[in-house]
Amino acid sequence: MQIDRSLFHPDYKPEPYWWEAARPGTTHAKDLPDTTEIFIVGSGYSGLSAALELARGGRAVTVVDALAFGEGASSRNGGGVSTGINLGKGISGGPGQEKRGASLQPVLEKLLGESLAAYELVQHLIERENIDCHFEPRGRFVGAFTADHFPGLQKKADMLNRLLQVGARVVSKDQQREEIGSDFYHGGLVIERSGKLHPALFHKGLLDACAAAGVTLCAHTKVTGITGSPGAFVVNTERGPCRAEHVIVATKGYTGDLSPKLRKKLVPIASQIIATEELPEDLARELIPNGRTISETPRITSYYRLLPGDRRVMYGGRARFQDVSPEVSGALLHKMMTDRWPQLKDARITHSWSGTVAMTTDALPHMGCEDGIHYCTGCNGSGVAMMTYLGRQIALRILQEGRSDSEYADLPFPGVGVPFYQGNPWFLPIVGEYYRYLDKKDRRKGTG
Ligand SMILES: Cc1cc2nc3c(=O)[nH]c(=O)nc-3n(C[C@H](O)[C@H](O)[C@H](O)COP(=O)(O)OP(=O)(O)OC[C@H]3O[C@@H](n4cnc5c(N)ncnc54)[C@H](O)[C@@H]3O)c2cc1C
Repeated sequence: MQIDRSLFHPDYKPEPYWWEAARPGTTHAKDLPDTTEIFIVGSGYSGLSAALELARGGRAVTVVDALAFGEGASSRNGGGVSTGINLGKGISGGPGQEKRGASLQPVLEKLLGESLAAYELVQHLIERENIDCHFEPRGRFVGAFTADHFPGLQKKADMLNRLLQVGARVVSKDQQREEIGSDFYHGGLVIERSGKLHPALFHKGLLDACAAAGVTLCAHTKVTGITGSPGAFVVNTERGPCRAEHVIVATKGYTGDLSPKLRKKLVPIASQIIATEELPEDLARELIPNGRTISETPRITSYYRLLPGDRRVMYGGRARFQDVSPEVSGALLHKMMTDRWPQLKDARITHSWSGTVAMTTDALPHMGCEDGIHYCTGCNGSGVAMMTYLGRQIALRILQEGRSDSEYADLPFPGVGVPFYQGNPWFLPIVGEYYRYLDKKDRRKGTG
């Protein structure tokens, strides 16, 4: 693909914008101990949230990461903090998924209730640990991609208000400019109880809190295998072994071959993001007047927002379903951004990056215990709140000697229904481009 270099600012960097304020590093790193009570693989939100709860509960905890601390999704995401999970919208998509969703409705409703608790946990942690991460509870706007999607948003607003009291309401196409400086959508849904933060600063705050609570933190320590059983695990790492009573795997889209069983249930998908240069104040002001995070209703969605300071745009989505350079994904995302906001045609890209999310076939996050090893996974692109929450739920389960009050504990976890699937999603480019084709078709027809 021919790339138009004029889209990129002279100071352009192929890395997350967030790293300007908090680059993943090795601050607080210690040597790997020989033994620990609880060994956590993965230093993202879920690993750190579990570690913090356990350390405050008086346990000896070690967290290791193959990369620098937080270098996975937790310092790369869009920073949207939402209360919702994707009811009935899994990677398998389609009517079969919806039918399964209907039979599970009562359980799904309880799960949704916990997603509000997840949102509140993030707020609570920010306050309790005094984390300066630009948290702004300014709500979310979900744009209707076609006119046919709009009635569904009304139903969703009713359901959300009934179950969660999140201040959801629809906005017609005529009123839409109160929410977004664009005529791209056919109205939308506002959810007041939703927010945004600076993901890398939130992560740094959790990391600092863990260090202060006495957690042993080890960077660049890849776990290569886990043997044994509860009470007597041996975790092998590239820096040697460590004995542990309990092990938590908190590796999400970066799970790789560490857990073959989990791997078969997850589809790792790249999500790409760009940030723009600072925009003129009056232009920036009209884009998202209420400072909400934006998402939308097609199968392949974009998510976007203003960055802290309200002068730059962050635009994220699935530019491509296979690995591409940040310049290729940047150019594609710029086109998607200007489809929604033609007034940004001259806004240059300063940062372009990607990260990996873990999708599940039922679109739900999961926590459980496999061969005695605790895990939480499957953020489906929405894990700032949920993964922080599930990390804490695993910690509580260990502190409560196996008892969990969470509806997520041991929820049936379906595998990816593709024969011989081992965690390498060879089918994604095909399925992804098919969904993109369907979205375009729906948009042309106005149906959905
Ligand atoms: C581009 C992008 C945009 C997103 N936007 C949003 C958003 O706006 N809102 C939202 O709610 N969610 C969003 N998400 C999802 C959110 O970022 C994740 O759900 C969340 O960060 C997951 O945290 P985690 O701790 O579970 O995993 P991660 O932060 O991914 O951490 C997993 C860690 O495990 C480590 N690891 C893996 N294997 C090993 C091993 N063998 N040994 C040692 N360490 C290992 C990795 O190095 C990694 O650091 C987005 C994700 C991406 C990628």
